[in-house]
Formats: sequence, C-alpha cells, structure tokens
Amino acid sequence: QLYNQVQDLKGTIRVYCRVRPFLRGQSNGQSTVDYIGENGNIMIANPLKNGKEARKVFTFNKVFGTNVTQDQIYADTQPLVRSVLDGYNVCIFAYGQTGSGKTFTMSGPDLTSEQTWGVNYRALRDLFQISKTRGDVIKYEVGVQMVEIYNEQVRDLLVNIRNNSQLNGLNVPDASWIPVSSTQDVLDLMKIGQRNRAVGATALNERSSRSHSVLTVHVYGKELVSGSILKGCLHLVDLAGSERVDKSEAVGERLKEAQYINRSLSALGDVISALAQKSPHVPYRNSKLTQILQDSLGGHAKTLMFVHINPELNSIGETISTLKFAERVS
Ligand code: ADP
Ligand code: MG
Repeated sequence: QLYNQVQDLKGTIRVYCRVRPFLRGQSNGQSTVDYIGENGNIMIANPLKNGKEARKVFTFNKVFGTNVTQDQIYADTQPLVRSVLDGYNVCIFAYGQTGSGKTFTMSGPDLTSEQTWGVNYRALRDLFQISKTRGDVIKYEVGVQMVEIYNEQVRDLLVNIRNNSQLNGLNVPDASWIPVSSTQDVLDLMKIGQRNRAVGATALNERSSRSHSVLTVHVYGKELVSGSILKGCLHLVDLAGSERVDKSEAVGERLKEAQYINRSLSALGDVISALAQKSPHVPYRNSKLTQILQDSLGGHAKTLMFVHINPELNSIGETISTLKFAERVS
C-alpha cells in the first residue's frame, strides 16, 4: 500500500491553525499572535487583559504562520487527500470568522495562478495525477458535487448542468454530481457553481460568509485484475463565518441567518468532539451539515479542521473563541 503511513490517522481528528497576515492598506497594528512555537503551539496576547490572563497558549497538530505558502499548506494535507484513492472517506473543513482566510485556504484568492491555488484544486490535481500513475492497476472514475447550505436548506449548485449523469456503481443522493477527468473540468464547474451561488444573493461575498459550501469528490476505483472495487470520498467544506452576531443589532433575516449559523457550527463542534472523545453517542442529526457528512465523519473516516485566525486587535474576541472551538474538537 502506497499510503500506509496515513492508516494510523483513521478515526482521528487533526486540527491545523493558520494565521492570516495583515493585509495591505490595513493599519499594520500590533498582532495578537505573540509567538508560534515548534510543536503546534500558538501564544495569543490579549491586551485587554492583565497579568496571567493576558497570555494564553493553545496547542494543535500544526500552526502555520503568516508567511506559509499555499504549497506548504497542501504538503501537510496531501497524505489525507491521497488516502481517498485507497478507499477512505475524508473531510476537510475551514473554520473561522469572516475575513480570516477560509476561502483563501480552500479555493485561493485567484484561480488564474496555480501558485495561489488552494487545497481544493491542488487536491483534485493530485487525485487525477495519482490515479493516472496507477492506471495499469486500477481504473478510477471521479465525480464532483457542489452544494451550499443556507439557513439549514441544502442547495445543489450544479443542478442545471446535467441531471442524468451516472457513475458506475455510485449512488449519490441529494444532489447531482458531475463526472470529471481533469482539473480544467473542475475549474469550469466551480465557476458555474459560484455563479449559481450568487443568484438571489445581494453580493456573493455576503452570501458566502453566511452559508456553508461543500465540494464533494467521489472516487470509484476498479482493480483491473481482481475486479475488486474501492470507493472513497473527499468533502471540502468552506464553513460560514463563525463570528457572533450582536443580538441587539441584528434583526429579521440577519438574525435568523446568524442563529442558523451558530446552531450548525455548534452541532458540528458537538459531533467532532464526541468523535474525538470516542463517545458512544454522536449527535449527527442536529444539523444538515452533519447529516450530509455523517458517512465521512467518524468510523474509518479522517477529519482535518483548518481554523483561521485574523491577527488584528479588534478581532481578539473572535480569535479566542475560534481557538476555544478548535481546542474542543481536537
Ligand atoms: P474568509 O473566507 O474567511 O471570509 P478570505 O479567504 O476571503 O476570508 O480572506 C480575506 C482576505 O484576506 C482576502 O482578501 C484574502 O485574499 C486575504 N487573505 C486571507 N488569507 C491570506 C493569506 N494566508 N495570505 C495572504 N492573504 C490572505
Ligand atoms: Mg470566504
């Protein structure tokens, strides 16, 4: 087995923390990240507190500082992605407040330059490449699905592309999925999906920060000699912004959205922390997101959560609550 080294990750939850740099034009103020240590430690300095309270260390599987490239991020994600070709189910999440870099990690800032591609495109490119090198032994087919979850409603973003597509032996409920055979196919689909996502929303950015986006890659492999079958699946999830909304300010639609988001992110946290603690009861049924991902969370599946930090001073409250969430699920 090529990817044996990741066998020991099955059933485990990994948490990576990524710190976004200050952006150009931002008042290049003081960072709330005091230091990033060797073994996955990150120290947060909270100037609003004094004494012992002012500094707090959190520990994760890895912490990536502001100068870490998309390449380096993917290097630490690749073993999980590749295990999908061996028949594993994998979930990769991006968590954090709006503006902290979730979409940067998953999609990247600019699709025209491969150098800035995020995990999504790199993962698909990788899957295509590896499946080609294994072509004499296993014949792989790959298909993708793209859905958005907004106010607990699942919306199929590829529904109007083709409805009658079929992949041998794969029965994928809930949303249409489209067979793909190159990264270009995927890029084209993502553009369509993004366009569909924007329909009816005031602005794409607004909408995308208040809904979860789930890109699912189904892999179906047939061993040519034995005829045995492998099925694996990769979920790439760009979560809704985790920021708390001030109840005194939000009203109407905005308040409803905020409540849906809070509830579904806590439901996700509950599921992952139950899995991390090997609890016999895992509350999958409490949100659409955890229902959709049920088969890929727990059991033999592997989970990776990227939590994102915005180092600006006025984000300190969100930074602390993001790190607490991450600590709870790891
Ligand atoms: P989110 O999806 O969490 O709302 P974005 O990914 O849209 O946040 O990031 C907000 C802004 O910060 C964007 O302009 C993005 O290009 C930039 N950004 C985020 N992470 C990084 C990073 N690691 N390096 C450089 N720029 C980043
Ligand atoms: Mg985003």
